Amino acid sequence: STSEMARLEQSLSAWVDASRVYTSRGKVAAYIPELSKAPKDALGITILSSAGQSVSAGDSELKFTMQSISKVFTLILALMDNGEKAVFDKVGMEPTGDNFNSMLKLELVQPGIPFNPLINAGAITISSLIKGSGPAEKSARILEFFKRLAGNDRLSYDSDVYLSESETGDLNRSMAYLLKDHGVLEGKVDDVLDVYFRHCSIQADCADLSRMALVLSCNGTDPVTGESLIPRRFVQIAKTFMTTCGMYNASGEFAIQVGLPAKSGVSGGILALVPGRFGIGVVGPALNAKGNSCAGVRLLETISQEMDWSMF
Ligand code: GLU
Repeated sequence: STSEMARLEQSLSAWVDASRVYTSRGKVAAYIPELSKAPKDALGITILSSAGQSVSAGDSELKFTMQSISKVFTLILALMDNGEKAVFDKVGMEPTGDNFNSMLKLELVQPGIPFNPLINAGAITISSLIKGSGPAEKSARILEFFKRLAGNDRLSYDSDVYLSESETGDLNRSMAYLLKDHGVLEGKVDDVLDVYFRHCSIQADCADLSRMALVLSCNGTDPVTGESLIPRRFVQIAKTFMTTCGMYNASGEFAIQVGLPAKSGVSGGILALVPGRFGIGVVGPALNAKGNSCAGVRLLETISQEMDWSMF
């Protein structure tokens, strides 16, 4: 509403300033070497309303790679390409409580079937379900879809991050071979991983995330253009996964403290939304022990509490 936008315009900068001190409690991800170059004390946010008004504060123009945030949208594209049944024959619907790159349950609990599409094993499986003649065409379709959702034709890859992850992604590679052995992955393992590494390296800023989030918040229709981009049922599935598994193994705590569907990535980005009303993009590269942006989570807690935005 207008009064909410006025309140945000008045207070958002102060909330960012108050949360910024939390950047010093986290660490920038370094397991993908190129990510370690991100500015440790950065924090930025853009909030976009369904009326098309936006408010930004802090380092909202910082560019970062989408990393795990991209998994929400490749899941949606895989659902649009294959339908619900084919997708959930291959991946489950349950949170794991483990790290994003854990192989524990993949081996022990449900051999070969990833628990959900937002952990790495699930997202790699989803990459294999994207339609296209080969990895180049699949990746091009993903990028095209992301451009439409972000309303930004200039979206592209950070090729340094892509190469860095591709060179060092041995854990993901081993996961993919395990999935292949269990008959879950189709096609060549290297081709599937190429699609996966590429979509993780799509570069965005807070405004891009806020627009993509707003489309989800408005059940698949971009309220700015009126265009229907995603069937409502698939948005519902995506938002449910965001709520139950979107913040790694801190998703339960985030649901209690913030109470909004969200997805984070190891670059420090967080995409969140207020159903029917706002899309939110946050960046803060310093991560807490669970892999979420330290200051970004703090900022969302403040905003949700001040604005009374929890869904619960
Ligand atoms: N590309 C990253 C990986 O597979 C994504 C991890 C993340 O953002 O959680 O390790």
